[in-house]
Parts: sequence; structure tokens; C-alpha cells
Amino acid sequence: MNSPCDHDHLDKARSAGEVERILDGVEASCVSEGERMTAPRRRVLELLLTAGEPVKAYDLIARFGANGEAAKPPTVYRALEFLERRGAVHRIASISAYVACSAHGDDVRAHAAAFLICDCCGSTAEVAVPLSELGLGAAAKAAGYDIQHTTIEGHGKCAHCQVSA
Ligand SMILES: [Zn+2]
Ligand SMILES: [Zn+2]
Ligand SMILES: [Zn+2]
Repeated sequence: MNSPCDHDHLDKARSAGEVERILDGVEASCVSEGERMTAPRRRVLELLLTAGEPVKAYDLIARFGANGEAAKPPTVYRALEFLERRGAVHRIASISAYVACSAHGDDVRAHAAAFLICDCCGSTAEVAVPLSELGLGAAAKAAGYDIQHTTIEGHGKCAHCQVSA
């Protein structure tokens, strides 16, 4: 992501070994619940894990092929839909981008996700916030509502940008 600020930023990209380890773990958790980690699903998650930061869907489509060829958009969107439902990937609506879950490693399951988004460098940090602590779970239950997934987005400045500004 392009930074409007000119100070140095932390590189959050994951190493190839780390990406491979998480991919295998997510695949194992899918298989154990009777779901298939197809090649497109694995590839999309690999791209997001490697980036270590939010990526727009059209960039995932463009980077999809190992030899630089683009994917068919529905292939990527279907993979994203699956990975989001599994809790392995989250969509951050305010920046219309997707990011690999960083709160649960390879032990993925559906969960409420809360993001702290830096408006200076564009970095995002996922923090674990139990739905019960937001009061949203109880409110939904009282309304007879079945929440499928929740993503909270907080905008501001990361610790790094606050000291560097
Ligand atoms: Zn998560
Ligand atoms: Zn920042
Ligand atoms: Zn900054």
C-alpha cells in the first residue's frame, strides 16, 4: 500500500516458510471439517499471507497466476467468499480490501474481527475482541438475529506513525 507519509514503515510481509506453514494448517482445519482447500482458495490465501497487508481484489486477480497471468474474477471472488466464511480472510470495507487473518494463525474459525487501521501508513492490525464484549452479540440475540460475521474498523494513527510524525 502506498504511504502518504515519508518516514520508514515496518515491513509486515511473511516469509515463504511461514506462509507455507499457515497454508498447511488452514488446509488441515478445512479438511477436518469436510471442506476442500481447492487450488484457487489456497493460491488466494497464499497471496494475502505473503503480502501481510490488505490487498484489493483486482490486485489478487492480477497476481493470481504464478507466471503473471490474471485469473478470471469469479475464481478469485469465490475463493475470497470461502476464505472469509472460514475466518481465514477478512474484508475491510472502509478500504475495500482483503487481508489474511492474523489473530488466529492457522487455527481458523469464524470469529468477529476488529481492525485498527492507520490512515498515515495504511497498516492494519487485527485485534481479538470477543463479540460478547462489544455487546453486539447480546443485542443481536435479543433481536432474534443470527449474526454471520462481524468486522469492526477503527481508524487513526499507528504507534509507529505517532512517534515518527
Ligand atoms: Zn481474524
Ligand atoms: Zn502508521
Ligand atoms: Zn506514517
